[in-house]
Amino acid sequence: MIMYLGLVLVVMIVSGTYILLTLRSAEINKSNQQLELYAEKISEQVVEGNTEDMFQEQLSNTLTSAESMQGNILDIYGRTIASTAVRQAPYPVFSDSAVVTAMSGETAYSFAKKSTDESGLVREWISCAYPVKDISGTVNYIVYTRMDAADMQENLVATARTILVAAIISLLLAATMGYIFAQTLTGPILALTRGAKNLAEGELNQSLKVRSSDEIGQLTSSFNYMASELKKNLSEISREKNRLEIILHNMTDGVISFDKNGNLMHINSAGMELLQMEKMDENMTFSDFIRAYDINSGVLLDIGRDHSKKVTFSVGKQFLNASFSPYYNRPGKMEGVVVVLQDITEQKKLDDMRKEFVANVSHELRTPLTTVKSYTETLMEGAVEEKELAMEFLGIIDSEADRMAFLVRDLLQLSRFDNKQVYLDITEIDLNEFLMQTVRQNKIHAEAKHQELTFEPTEKPVIIYADRDRVGQVVNNIVTNAIKYSLDRASIRIFITEDKDYYKISVKDTGMGISREDLPRIFERFYRVDKARSRAMGGTGLGLAIAKEIMESHEGKLTAESEYGKGTTMTMWFSKHFPRIDEA
Ligand code: ADP
Repeated sequence: MIMYLGLVLVVMIVSGTYILLTLRSAEINKSNQQLELYAEKISEQVVEGNTEDMFQEQLSNTLTSAESMQGNILDIYGRTIASTAVRQAPYPVFSDSAVVTAMSGETAYSFAKKSTDESGLVREWISCAYPVKDISGTVNYIVYTRMDAADMQENLVATARTILVAAIISLLLAATMGYIFAQTLTGPILALTRGAKNLAEGELNQSLKVRSSDEIGQLTSSFNYMASELKKNLSEISREKNRLEIILHNMTDGVISFDKNGNLMHINSAGMELLQMEKMDENMTFSDFIRAYDINSGVLLDIGRDHSKKVTFSVGKQFLNASFSPYYNRPGKMEGVVVVLQDITEQKKLDDMRKEFVANVSHELRTPLTTVKSYTETLMEGAVEEKELAMEFLGIIDSEADRMAFLVRDLLQLSRFDNKQVYLDITEIDLNEFLMQTVRQNKIHAEAKHQELTFEPTEKPVIIYADRDRVGQVVNNIVTNAIKYSLDRASIRIFITEDKDYYKISVKDTGMGISREDLPRIFERFYRVDKARSRAMGGTGLGLAIAKEIMESHEGKLTAESEYGKGTTMTMWFSKHFPRIDEA
């Protein structure tokens, strides 16, 4: 707006001054012409053909010109000899440089010469001094005409005033237009600036109003388009980021990334869990990580050369596999490392178990094999001749062969459970009848040890659905164990209980019991609390493992409670909902 006003002001001053100056010089020229014409007229009508003493009379008579003009006749000495202003002497004296110029024979003019008029008022004059020459060119008289400059001056002042008024109106107009202009031009620009600032501060939900179709309007539409595109792109990016975060968060593998300076950039929750970090340690660096988990430091040297490097390390009881993969920027410079952590505890446990299992099987087979081999050799070396001894040896060989056969039978059975190749022949079993039969079968073994084996049938019959042979195997195994691992005169009690979901068969003995440390392990394959005793009694150490598998295949379970030195209670849980109706 200020620029606008300044421009108008400059234009008005320049053009006003120019107009005024042009007008003034035109006015002066016009006045000069009038004065010269008047002077020529005086020269022709008054001076030529008249004597000096006639001048005044002639001047007064012949010339009745415009009143604003005065005509005077001066002699060559500059003395006034006739005048239209004063009819008789004393005539006014004109001390004008124009008169001096005219004396040398040239018409001269002067402007704004101040002098007093005949009534003594100071006035401004425009004057013309016109030399009257004779034939030879000698100046005889000077006609000095003059007119009051006030009129012209007044005209000029009036014009100047008009120009001033015009200038003020123009300025007002300019100010109004400037304001409107500023509103239409700078208003939208200010709005755009504000919008851009908001955009930079993250306020993406904004659309500016497009007020016109000019460049500003186009700029505003472009701005709106930019903002909407930006919003679209940002939401796309954040959606993508969320997706990645969700994936990273829900991965079971731990993911940790470090930048090229070794600073931690990201760790997902699985990573924190695997490393057993309570909360994220943002200051953890790559070397801290290597040091804290005692990871083979060779990995540091290999990174950058290899594509990825795998290292196994342990955190508490867990075994982790870490794979270190460097990542690169475009020109192939390393930007950082991504570490993927996998929990291989289970895998390692299985591996260890497999190794242990093989070692156990080999061990179990070696003992009877060695026995068989040594007795056979003894027989071959001549013992065969002594019939009694030979029969004793063969008996031992037979029982060892039996033991190996039992072992192989048990192993095969377990392997079938492992491979889910077990077919259950489900039938209705009346537990009272079934357990009474079990007692009858085992009574003889119990009695041999003077043990009391009892079963208390329930009042109402209890019916379960199960594979009779396999359940029989489980019950027999448990009852046999109770007899085996109880001293003479112990009592073994079998009873049935039930709860909401299960029928339970418990076998409670007053035997040697199982220590707290051993109790959770007795269902493991080949686990025996007292190896020598178990083996001496023909146990393979697989009985309870198989029993557990059988119970689980019936959707039931097998549990043990025991107090060392006091006795053990083994409980078989039969689900009331087995087999499910939809399965049956
Ligand atoms: P085994 O062939 O040795 O009997 P089992 O799998 O049947 O193998 O039992 C595993 C181990 O559990 C036995 O070696 C024994 O130490 C212990 N055990 C099982 N039942 C009893 C019990 N009633 N009292 C004490 N110990 C028992």
